[in-house]
Amino acid sequence: MPPPCAPAWHRGTPRPERHLMPRMRWFLTVPALVALSCRSGLAAMPQPAASGPEPTVAMCGPLAVVTAPAGAMPERTAAVPERTAALPAPAGAAPARAAPMHGPRAAPPSSTSAFPRNVVLLVGDGMGPSHFAAARLLRGDAFEAGRFPVTGLVATASASSRVTDSAAAASAMATGHKVNNKMLSVDAEGRPLPTLLELAEGQGRATGLVTTTFFGDATPAAFAVHTARREQVTGIVDQLLASQVDLIAGTGAELFGRDGLPELPAAASKQGWTLITEPAALASAPASKALAVFPSQKNDVDVPGARLPTLARWALERLAKDPDGFFLVVEHEGTDKASHENAADDLRASLRSFDETVGVVADFARQRGDTLVLVMGDHETGGLRVVAEGAGDVALEFGSTVHTGSLVPLFALGPGAERFVGLYENTEIHRKVRALLR
Ligand SMILES: [Zn+2]
Repeated sequence: MPPPCAPAWHRGTPRPERHLMPRMRWFLTVPALVALSCRSGLAAMPQPAASGPEPTVAMCGPLAVVTAPAGAMPERTAAVPERTAALPAPAGAAPARAAPMHGPRAAPPSSTSAFPRNVVLLVGDGMGPSHFAAARLLRGDAFEAGRFPVTGLVATASASSRVTDSAAAASAMATGHKVNNKMLSVDAEGRPLPTLLELAEGQGRATGLVTTTFFGDATPAAFAVHTARREQVTGIVDQLLASQVDLIAGTGAELFGRDGLPELPAAASKQGWTLITEPAALASAPASKALAVFPSQKNDVDVPGARLPTLARWALERLAKDPDGFFLVVEHEGTDKASHENAADDLRASLRSFDETVGVVADFARQRGDTLVLVMGDHETGGLRVVAEGAGDVALEFGSTVHTGSLVPLFALGPGAERFVGLYENTEIHRKVRALLR
């Protein structure tokens, strides 16, 4: 039974053609963004200009934002040491401007549009400033997020608490509305709030949800599910299987066939999904209606044989076949779970994996020039501190086993990245991305 709260095209009606959808209006004006971002000495913030041949450089405190002509991808801030070595191509990634990638309707990736064709949101669950600091120390020169040209800071309080849970945090990013903790993309009365993923679907884009945890967990679910109770697992799975999401990958295979959850093979095939339960089968998965579900891992670290960098590459290769572009959410949950458990070894492994995943997506985006990549935490977990001495190659201490109200860092790369500089609420993620999805 399709979910009653799903958008019309989720209920069995044909998905609307992209050209029939109402055009999205600019919601957040650039001047407002400028005021938020840097309040002085900034007259030339990057604009989504349709023309203009000269790059401009706007100084923003210690950060210089370089605007390339006509919205081409800004390269890197002047404050960041120059690194000119050629980027290695990820294994299996398409070469830049590979014509066959998009099929007959495809135009080559645009290097002149101010608007991205594709959007990838990479969420390190529970990653506050010290998590990114630890990842940078662990990865050294290979720290991928540090090579992004734009950084921001995001406030995360939910409608019900100064300290959000993952459900309310992801709902805010997905819908642009603060909701109560435990809610997934519904308002206070339980009415569904449209998500970025559903907007992208309505525009004809392919969509994907990839995580290291149960595929119906809060962060991925908030983009495609509407419920006031994140713990209603059966209903969440029903909505995800009935959704128009093209690719889903995560864990939780052992949960099915008991506690009210259906046998997964039957439930998946009934809704037309190709079910993948072994990493070796990923390679033969189709580009749409592919559901990869592996056994859950302790502390939600990577699945052996299907680490998050591998799953991200798998998703990119398939979603890139859609000539209308795609919207993809990739989450590492080990960064949150290991922080709850104060499990430093698993946290370090998850931080490394997440940043490797950032590298896979960033290489894809740099080769094409048409993909906006956002890397961020959804909230901080564990009151993490990097300390001078202790166990492990980067010594970590925890101040709690729960979420905290810290600001979280954001890193942006690609067309529209310049809009993400500054300090803003997590609901602005929705508004900024929505303004860029055309
Ligand atoms: Zn958590």
